[in-house]
Amino acid sequence: MPPELPETDIRRLVHSRMREGMLPPTTVAIPPGRQSYGGDTCIICGFVIVAGRNEVDVAGFHAHERCAVIWREESDRLL
Ligand SMILES: [Zn+2]
Repeated sequence: MPPELPETDIRRLVHSRMREGMLPPTTVAIPPGRQSYGGDTCIICGFVIVAGRNEVDVAGFHAHERCAVIWREESDRLL
């Protein structure tokens, strides 16, 4: 299995990255995921996205679909 964080850890990571200003809160709609070709780095959790995982392209960046959904949920809570 690829290194993948449990949801609670991703949530904590998203929180601290937004607090530190490394990740802006977002209002963009998360597009439907596609199968990753592999090799892109998730802007949210910082892990490389392994081929075959669900990946989304958000505003020109790559992210795990799950990370992006959490990012959006946490942004909604802040904004
Ligand atoms: Zn991720």
